[in-house]
Amino acid sequence: TGLTFQDIKDKVNKYMIETYERFDFLAETAEGMYMYDENGTPYLDFYAGIAVNNAGNRNPKVVAAAKEQLDDIMHTFNYPYTIPQALLAEKVCETIGMDKVMYQNSGAEANEGQIKLARKYAKDHGHPERFVVITMKNSFHGRTLATCTATGQYAVHRYFEPLPSGFRYAEFNNLQSVKDIMDEYVCAILTEPVQGEGGVRPASQEFLQGLRDLCDEKGILLMFDEVQVGSGRTGKLFAHQNYGVEPDTCSMAKALGSGVPIGAVCARGEAAKTLTPGTHGSTFAGGPLACALAATTLDVMINDGVIENSRKMGEYFRDQMHKVIEKNHPDAVNEIRGLGLIDGIQLNKPSGQPVVDLCFKDSKVLINNTNGNVLRFVPPLIVNEEEIDIVIKAVDEAMTKLGW
Ligand code: PLP
Repeated sequence: TGLTFQDIKDKVNKYMIETYERFDFLAETAEGMYMYDENGTPYLDFYAGIAVNNAGNRNPKVVAAAKEQLDDIMHTFNYPYTIPQALLAEKVCETIGMDKVMYQNSGAEANEGQIKLARKYAKDHGHPERFVVITMKNSFHGRTLATCTATGQYAVHRYFEPLPSGFRYAEFNNLQSVKDIMDEYVCAILTEPVQGEGGVRPASQEFLQGLRDLCDEKGILLMFDEVQVGSGRTGKLFAHQNYGVEPDTCSMAKALGSGVPIGAVCARGEAAKTLTPGTHGSTFAGGPLACALAATTLDVMINDGVIENSRKMGEYFRDQMHKVIEKNHPDAVNEIRGLGLIDGIQLNKPSGQPVVDLCFKDSKVLINNTNGNVLRFVPPLIVNEEEIDIVIKAVDEAMTKLGW
């Protein structure tokens, strides 16, 4: 383009409404485990576009599928049948044991779809009074008005009151707190099986099973948000498969399309019969390009050993990180936790940002800080031991430099 990095920054600052704090980094190209700046300098990517590039940056099979699809058809209106939609629907339902899928464009939209489905389900089943969805404190479900309200964090609600009605918040991993706010107006419970933005917190077995039992007892829907932790992230295709607890519906997005926007609501049983022609829709959802990429991404996950690698490398990461932290920084860290390759270090410090900044500047390693003081590691699921060692060394050195 003949433009310098500074030219790009100037244009962004002048013309963009900025809703993110930026790294001082131009992401020009990416391949596998690495992102490259304008000089071709590699940065080890433990961010994966926030848990999106699970199959690796620009996975060759996914790139090939995109090129092939672009030669056929990119977009169509929603009435004709398309081959990628049909193939992806079969793959999703068969692999996760759901009956039906409805396509959306993002995580927020997929959760919005679940919320609408739950309200209609209640009406269809003789309970027009039921409209409340119980969600968890510290959760994250999206940025649309309904999903930001579903999100149990004041920081996300702030500035946007009055919020839509119909949401109540319980304590994550505390079944009694869900029971305490349950009444005849509740139509569904929505939770992440592992809270991602809320600081990498896996649900307990008792909690998810307890929610399932409670929903069965009340005749209401159990809905999981698998947007961040689906697509192989936790060492299973879907996080809830680690628990053997089946939801009535679950949402997917992020890694589903390897970076091309696509979300989905999966449903089973009676819940899968709820939304019918005319009750919901979207211009772009289920477009041929996104569906073709998602179908190939799922193939890579299942057939190329990526999910198994996620489980193994997650264990390796936590074992090695434990050793280094116990030896060198025992007082700086409160807890190391995770499932598969979504891992977090809860610090005994107000923020993890200084570590993120030093990893970036000194070691060219991209990691992230979430929920104030939790370092989050969500690499592509193709990561190997050597790359994990580089990141652990970077975190170790950053903490040492900070005097932690
Ligand atoms: N749900 C969860 C668990 C998420 O982590 C996110 C995004 O971080 C969302 C929903 C929202 O997804 P999107 O940004 O695609 O709308």
